Amino acid sequence: MDDATVQRLEKIKSEMAAAYKVAGRSDEAAQLIAVSKTRSADDIRPLLLAGQTAFGENRVQEAAEKWPTLKAEFPDVFLHLIGQLQSNKADEAVALFNMIHSVDRLSLITALGKAMAAQDRHIPCLLQVNIGEEEQKGGCAIADIPPLLAACREHAVPIVGLMCLPPADLEPAPFFALLAELAARHQLPILSMGMSDDFATAIMLGATHVRVGTALFGARS
Ligand SMILES: *Cc1c(COP(=O)(O)O)cnc(C)c1O
Repeated sequence: MDDATVQRLEKIKSEMAAAYKVAGRSDEAAQLIAVSKTRSADDIRPLLLAGQTAFGENRVQEAAEKWPTLKAEFPDVFLHLIGQLQSNKADEAVALFNMIHSVDRLSLITALGKAMAAQDRHIPCLLQVNIGEEEQKGGCAIADIPPLLAACREHAVPIVGLMCLPPADLEPAPFFALLAELAARHQLPILSMGMSDDFATAIMLGATHVRVGTALFGARS
């Protein structure tokens, strides 16, 4: 049993609790998603035993290799897909995950709509917004949010919120605040924002889901 990981879990939870206090938010206003990409089942198991149920993966293939066995052992696991999704993996993603954070284009919305209808499994999804309008980054442009929301309604893809990854080298707070404003404007209750270095800031600005990898498991090799 890796006590270090469980100790880091407790530390992150107390930092989250401190952020709720400062922000005047209720206890457990945000969910901690343990980002387990690149981690083995043995790395993950101590967290499962400690009661952590929400996990995030960024690749369908890797999750499909790792999670079915762990889910059989820990049926309460709730899996979040946080990485870019190719349309040809939509079927597999809908079958395996409980929430998809990376919906960002019409072709993917069409594919997800088909997959969800075929499986009669309409899992909640988030629109990923390219909040810093960066060239290479996944996520839709801010201007594309209204047409993509309309497409999601048309294809029966349930969108419950927004997700972002702010530019790596800039102060994240203004980007988190902007994402929160966009979600409020569209009456979307879920905000997936904040990672190892900035989850407390994200919580103060309204995050309902923070995605933490390194601060929980240590550096990725
Ligand atoms: C890897 C990843 C994270 C976690 O990043 P850390 O800095 O390790 O906490 C969060 N969100 C996404 C989309 C990721 O790919």
